[in-house]
Amino acid sequence: MAKSDYYQILGVSKNADEREIKKAYKRLAMKFHPDRNQGNAEAEVKFKEIKEAYEVLTDEQKRAAYDQYGHMAFEQQSSSMGGGTADFSDIFGEVFGDIFGGGRRQRASRGSDLRYNMELTLEEAVRGVTREIRIPVLDKCEVCYGSGSKPGTSSITCSTCNGKGQVQIRQGFFAVQQGCPTCNGQGKVVKEPCIKCHGKGRVKKYKTLSVKIPTGVDTGDRIRLSGEGEAGEYGAQSGDLYVEVKVLKHPIFGREENNLYCEVPINFSMAALGGEIEVPTIDGRIKLKIPAETQTGKIFRMRGKGVKSVRSGHQGDLLCRVVVETPVKLNELQKQLLRELGESFCGPCGNQNSPRLKNFLDGVKNFLMISLIKNSD
Ligand SMILES: [Zn+2]
Ligand SMILES: [Zn+2]
Repeated sequence: MAKSDYYQILGVSKNADEREIKKAYKRLAMKFHPDRNQGNAEAEVKFKEIKEAYEVLTDEQKRAAYDQYGHMAFEQQSSSMGGGTADFSDIFGEVFGDIFGGGRRQRASRGSDLRYNMELTLEEAVRGVTREIRIPVLDKCEVCYGSGSKPGTSSITCSTCNGKGQVQIRQGFFAVQQGCPTCNGQGKVVKEPCIKCHGKGRVKKYKTLSVKIPTGVDTGDRIRLSGEGEAGEYGAQSGDLYVEVKVLKHPIFGREENNLYCEVPINFSMAALGGEIEVPTIDGRIKLKIPAETQTGKIFRMRGKGVKSVRSGHQGDLLCRVVVETPVKLNELQKQLLRELGESFCGPCGNQNSPRLKNFLDGVKNFLMISLIKNSD
């Protein structure tokens, strides 16, 4: 909430004298007084504003501070000055407590966010998994129970702030309250530090957390565990823990968003005659019909055998790319059969067995003819 200018609230100029300010205040206070505006919340707020502006601008010291620092001048007025009305301090506490920290509402030292890198197998990423992780945290020292003092000794009152935890710093003639740098606002300092935590009261420990990874996550996805980050100082809010996922390479399957893909080798008689094979899926096996005359590189789509999207819930597919494998380590009989088969491909009607080869040879023939003609020119 941005606060309005006090001079504007009262409708007076910056160099208005006390008499003018009083006059403006009287007029506005009459108009917006709660007794005259029963149940009108807006008028009530307005009245408060007017009163506040009046109180500052008719106090010589406060007005000078306001002219120099604006609304910021009154940060922690409540705890440092002790004076002023009850309403006054409440309003300022509310507006400025958050910005400056310190004082009654110390909020500056929220714990840091932490990141944890988690490697998952593809199966774990596809199915979802619950994993236990161990993360380092700062925890209360169990030797000194967080006091930082060697057992049997006690801390002494901080001499910088006399145990208040706050010090006053003068800015011009105006006093600003700040957390004591010697004792970090604790009001006490350790005389003989605890051996375990060296007087800090906190030690690094490991805590085990159970993290539920939803189905379908992929590399780069982050799961936020609210409040599981680093502990805040002096009881402040903890940070968050972000678990960042990295999915490891799988020996069979690749992944493209929610689709899985794999390469399936088949022998060339299966490719020519057709048949049925079993292909792996992420959770088992599935039969795949290979039609006759399947060429290498042909892709078969197995619907719904991919990954379920972690965001949309959409189920991806499995894409099987068939690769025709040239046979190796043939015995004599097999070689003989292949020779006969090869011979049958040649001759007048052999061309139709290999249309791609025929096209290619025709292309080459044309290409050579053209270059022959060109060369003879
Ligand atoms: Zn300790
Ligand atoms: Zn101190």
